[in-house]
Amino acid sequence: MKEIALQINTVSKTYKGGVEALKDVNLEIKKGEIFGLLGPNGAGKSTLINILTTLTVKTSGTIQVAGVDFDGNQSEAKTHLGVVPQEFNFGIFEKIQDIVVQQAGYYGVPRDIATDRAVHYLTKLGLGDKLQATAMQLSGGMKRRLMIARALVHEPDILILDEPSAGVDVELRREMWEFIQEIHQQGRTIILTTHYLEEAEQLCDRIGIINKGTVLQVGTVTDLLSELQRDRLILDVEGTPHKTLPERYQRISAERLETDLIKGEDLWDITTEIHNYGLKVTGIRNKTNRLEEVFLSKVQ
Ligand code: ADP
Ligand code: MG
Repeated sequence: MKEIALQINTVSKTYKGGVEALKDVNLEIKKGEIFGLLGPNGAGKSTLINILTTLTVKTSGTIQVAGVDFDGNQSEAKTHLGVVPQEFNFGIFEKIQDIVVQQAGYYGVPRDIATDRAVHYLTKLGLGDKLQATAMQLSGGMKRRLMIARALVHEPDILILDEPSAGVDVELRREMWEFIQEIHQQGRTIILTTHYLEEAEQLCDRIGIINKGTVLQVGTVTDLLSELQRDRLILDVEGTPHKTLPERYQRISAERLETDLIKGEDLWDITTEIHNYGLKVTGIRNKTNRLEEVFLSKVQ
């Protein structure tokens, strides 16, 4: 069995005021995988990540990081983790190289090594010409990359990114994905949260779908995608059927049916079947992007 990078056992969080942001969350992230926590806004993703940065205190449950108990030995557990929070949390008047070097100091990395690493990671992330700029002078996407460099400076084996694409231009998003893959290939476990299906699909080995504080499903991208191997069709029809249509056809209105076209199925069989019930099919179109639809069907 693969070693476990992060084990989350029945973690719950109720904020002051009563919002139950996490309800008995169990997750097991394997060493070396890219795991995506996918869910809409308000699902509880950042709450879970912020618990790992100790910004938020969980209400109950236990967490092990690389086998180390998070509550029992927090400083050791944290050496394994590099976390990029969703909200920017650095001093905007500080120089970006200093922000990264200073972080290394918290982990006991000697200053000369920290400086080399800061220059290395900032340069890799396209900020090599901004080392002496202040954080205030960076765009949103650059700030996100600064936070990634800062999270890597103590060379953790698990990198956690809360919405890495937030505020990043579409063109830069691909570069960000390539960088994440490169970091992964160097042997790190990657955990990211996202509400972009495409991001989860492009990057992740496994995905956990979370909504309203509950993990609904965990599986490989391939497994989840195989569920998506169907297209939802809208069929415009005319006439009155002489008997009740089979269950697979949902009657939306007098002129409209909906059904799923399973991968490999012949569209002709569908139109013929409907025809045999006395209806004329006058139009066919796809309802929505199928990925969007299955995701939405899970979170509603
Ligand atoms: P996500 O990151 O998936 O968008 P969050 O973890 O930020 O979700 O939020 C989950 C729920 O917890 C939401 O209902 C949100 O309003 C609530 N919440 C988040 N942070 C706080 C807080 N500091 N105090 C009270 N409620 C909060
Ligand atoms: Mg969030």
